[in-house]
Amino acid sequence: ALLALSACTTAREGETSSTASGPAVGFAKDALIGVALPSKTSENWVLAGDLFTNGLKAAGFASDVQYAGASTTVADQQAQINAMVTKGAKVIVIGATDAAQLSTQVAQAKQAGAVVIAYDRLITNTKDIDYYIAFDNFKVGQLQGQALVEGLKAKKATGPWTIELFSGSPDDNNAGVFFNGALDVLKPLIDKGDLIVGSGQKDVKQTAIQGWKAEGAQQRMDSLLTSTYSSGKTLDGVLSPNDTLARAIITSVKGAGKPIPVVTGQDSEVESVKSIMAGEQYSTINKDTRKLVAETIKMVQALQTGATPTVNDTSSYNNGVKVVPSYLLPPIIVTKANAATAYVDDPKLGPLTK
Ligand code: BGC
Repeated sequence: ALLALSACTTAREGETSSTASGPAVGFAKDALIGVALPSKTSENWVLAGDLFTNGLKAAGFASDVQYAGASTTVADQQAQINAMVTKGAKVIVIGATDAAQLSTQVAQAKQAGAVVIAYDRLITNTKDIDYYIAFDNFKVGQLQGQALVEGLKAKKATGPWTIELFSGSPDDNNAGVFFNGALDVLKPLIDKGDLIVGSGQKDVKQTAIQGWKAEGAQQRMDSLLTSTYSSGKTLDGVLSPNDTLARAIITSVKGAGKPIPVVTGQDSEVESVKSIMAGEQYSTINKDTRKLVAETIKMVQALQTGATPTVNDTSSYNNGVKVVPSYLLPPIIVTKANAATAYVDDPKLGPLTK
């Protein structure tokens, strides 16, 4: 705990000692909690920052909530985590901007006696993270795959259906997990010939959108339309890993004057829910950020008292070095059919009328 001590002039009242390795055993009720979030690539991150700031304050903690910048994301986040360690944060919650680039920072955090929680996105190739809290990302992917198939069948009762696949940013561990979850549902149908990937681009590398950028998705869709669909072939559906990319894909298709295919999404972003209600985007996933942040703060509160936080999964999320004890929440699929019920208590989205 040397780093933490050198930065803290006085030990706070009620503070108990923490060991240099392994989770801290209790700390002051008003201890500093660091929250390092990635850049604001989707609404959930914006919301999470506000919820952490308010929720940690309400729970009596001091907080330091930071976002990685828009371009120098990795270096920004590394510096922010270093600063949190120096300031003596007792828990550091991290939504990684690049899963594989934080091992030095989390090692320093552990050495200083902080507990490290990976939030929403797993941090890979390090033993130095204690917990992972997220919506079950593999399940998110499976639900996206299911939604795509359901939407295609509703459109045209029998296949084959022609589709395209998109995946998220390669530096985000979730991107591959979402894609694998979706392929778990889609691959058997692709193998049977019921689903045809028009461009032939089925690999996660070919389908990735760097930085989860809308313009990247729009450009890729534009070129797919030119290369594969300009001679009149129908595009029936698109697997999109989130709402931001889904809307970019729809913009591209509309721009080309083509009918809108079945497009999946994720995050329940305001504009996408509107699009679903208007019959354009087909589906999204509800991962209620309010719940995820509230559960993370519960973990912090458990750690504060010296208790072990509750986890509900100790087998699914292997980061390359260890299986990280996880608390996973269930994602919910949303289409026009259940949107009004799904968002009934969400002030950001409701009330919805069909
Ligand atoms: C989150 C998604 C989000 C994406 C882009 C992922 O790690 O799980 O909810 O759409 O990042 O911000």
